[in-house]
Amino acid sequence: MATKKQESTGLLKLLEDQLADIYYAEKQLLKALPKMAKAATNNDLRAAFEGHLEETQGQVQRLEEAFSAMDLPAKGKKCPAIDGILEEGKEIMEEFADDAALDAGLVAAAQKVEHYEIASYGSMCAWAEQLGLHDVAGLLTETLEEEKGADEKLSEIAETVVNLEAEDSDEEEAGELEEVGNGSGRSAKAKGAAAKGMGKGSATTTKPNRNGKR
Ligand code: FE
Ligand code: FE
Ligand code: ZN
Ligand code: FE
Repeated sequence: MATKKQESTGLLKLLEDQLADIYYAEKQLLKALPKMAKAATNNDLRAAFEGHLEETQGQVQRLEEAFSAMDLPAKGKKCPAIDGILEEGKEIMEEFADDAALDAGLVAAAQKVEHYEIASYGSMCAWAEQLGLHDVAGLLTETLEEEKGADEKLSEIAETVVNLEAEDSDEEEAGELEEVGNGSGRSAKAKGAAAKGMGKGSATTTKPNRNGKR
């Protein structure tokens, strides 16, 4: 009868495998983030990408420290998931290059990356702890916190600026944008109201709906 392999051997092998996967992914991100920063039209979003590029350089170094703590050479392994996520991001950059929704698309693409990283680092942290590799777990936890921070920052940017810009331009196209208050029509308040669908009761109510039905 076959006996199961020792559990720790399997988990260690899994950790090594996933370290190589995320090492490859982080290196791809070093190439992708400058392109995303360049594509972003919103200043906060561009700054967020540039800031995360710097963090990512530190994350690559941390992974190299983790490899070395485990007496392994720092070596990447092709990660089809990150390649796919970045390919989709590239599609958005091309298809929405001149669209007001570009920044919203960039935020979504970037958050898909962060969520992949959070899942990966979260699992690896737990495995490293389980294996008693506390120095490795510490390194991975530091990066995990940065990825969570990046994700939260992207959510904030999306809520306060990016999604609203996309929405404003949709409304402008539909001729539904009302000038509000100070006349700029772009105050945070006015934009917030528009985003929450609170601009109802305006001229829109008498218009036929999109299909021309009444
Ligand atoms: Fe990262
Ligand atoms: Fe992967
Ligand atoms: Zn520990
Ligand atoms: Fe990240």
